[in-house]
Amino acid sequence: MGRKLVLVNPVNPARTGLTVNKSSRFPPIGLGIVAALTPENWEVELLDENWEPFVYQEADLVGITAFTASANRAYEIAAAYRARRVPVVMGGIHASMCAEEALRFVDAVVVGEAETVWPRVVADVEAGQLLQVYRGEWTDLVGLPRPRRELFHPGYIFASVQTSRGCPMDCDFCSVTAYNGRRYRRRPPGEVLDELEAIPQKMLFIVDDNFIGYGRESREQAQALLRGMVERKLDKWWFCQASLNFADDEEVLHWAARAGCRMVFLGLEAEEVDVLGELNKRLNLRRGVESYEQAFRRIHRAGIAVLGAFIFGMDGDTPERLHRRSKYMVASGVDVMQTTYLTPLPGTRLFDQLRSQGRLLHTDFPRDWSRYDMAEVTHRPQGMTPEALAQVTHLANRRMYARPVLACKAMRTLWETRSPAAAMFAWQSNLNYRRVSIGR
Ligand code: SF4
Repeated sequence: MGRKLVLVNPVNPARTGLTVNKSSRFPPIGLGIVAALTPENWEVELLDENWEPFVYQEADLVGITAFTASANRAYEIAAAYRARRVPVVMGGIHASMCAEEALRFVDAVVVGEAETVWPRVVADVEAGQLLQVYRGEWTDLVGLPRPRRELFHPGYIFASVQTSRGCPMDCDFCSVTAYNGRRYRRRPPGEVLDELEAIPQKMLFIVDDNFIGYGRESREQAQALLRGMVERKLDKWWFCQASLNFADDEEVLHWAARAGCRMVFLGLEAEEVDVLGELNKRLNLRRGVESYEQAFRRIHRAGIAVLGAFIFGMDGDTPERLHRRSKYMVASGVDVMQTTYLTPLPGTRLFDQLRSQGRLLHTDFPRDWSRYDMAEVTHRPQGMTPEALAQVTHLANRRMYARPVLACKAMRTLWETRSPAAAMFAWQSNLNYRRVSIGR
């Protein structure tokens, strides 16, 4: 008789964040890939707390993933299986950055990308000789298996797709470089297009950390993908994440818009140079903050909205500065405003630095990981108290997400992009952030 693998996507029930809105839930693409890597004689079931709280299902093997904020929830679910002697393997960003910790709660950890090791994990389970640590390699992204999307909950409005991995920028607060490596790797456009053709949803989220990549070759490949989306008449609406260099090439912007790009998420972080220096945000620093508005204009001209992500609570920040930042966010060409607290996530230089300086506010790990969801102050900034940071941010959010401000933003987006779809994406996203930030 075949065996059964249960895959679990845990959500911290106290910190549901954006996932309270259906339109901000995204399918757990990593688990879909793990399912695709599992031999056919295994039945696979996916339990997804984005939709329903976990209920125990019989299994011969459990695969669980977690972000840092949901790590504790993952450990709770793991305990239910380990009590019945079912082996539990954990992967994903948190387990990769905190493998030693995870091994106190699960039987084995996949560190890094799963493709090169998951078949071995399954074979070792079958042979009854599971190891504790499996380290994935950063291989070329050729011939990747397609995520088994039929396992995802049918309620997801967006399908998620990955076209690249890796980032050479290695910003102090980010663990992407540690997780996916410095080398930017791109999937062959033809493989991505074949995968896209098989996706029924109209709406897509391209999950890459930087869709456009770095350098000419990667830009050309991105363009080939975009042209292919037009030529194959895929007729999708989508958004992606990118660096400021997304705006550099008019042709890329033209094809992105024709291929259905409606919004781009830019990690702007701050509008003042010395604050960017704090974060080692090199790409934005090199270009200078004055390049922001020019980039917004070019993106808008193509018919695409800009989601600008800003961080509150860096060392150079004071109440006055944050006040200025929120005013900038409202007045600037950013269509969607995202604020998060600077959050020291494990695996980053920021975490090591703040921990060694005794500046982390909550250190009862793993319990306190649930606080590290970017919506709570977790460290002591230099220029203000944690309480002042929380208060100033709360006031800034109330101002930024006031309905008249959002209405003006929506009108401006429509005016500047001439795209009702881009304006709709932007309006909806601002409402989602409003609900999370000020609770309504
Ligand atoms: S924040 Fe963006 S640019 Fe910086 S390391 Fe992370 S993915 Fe790369």
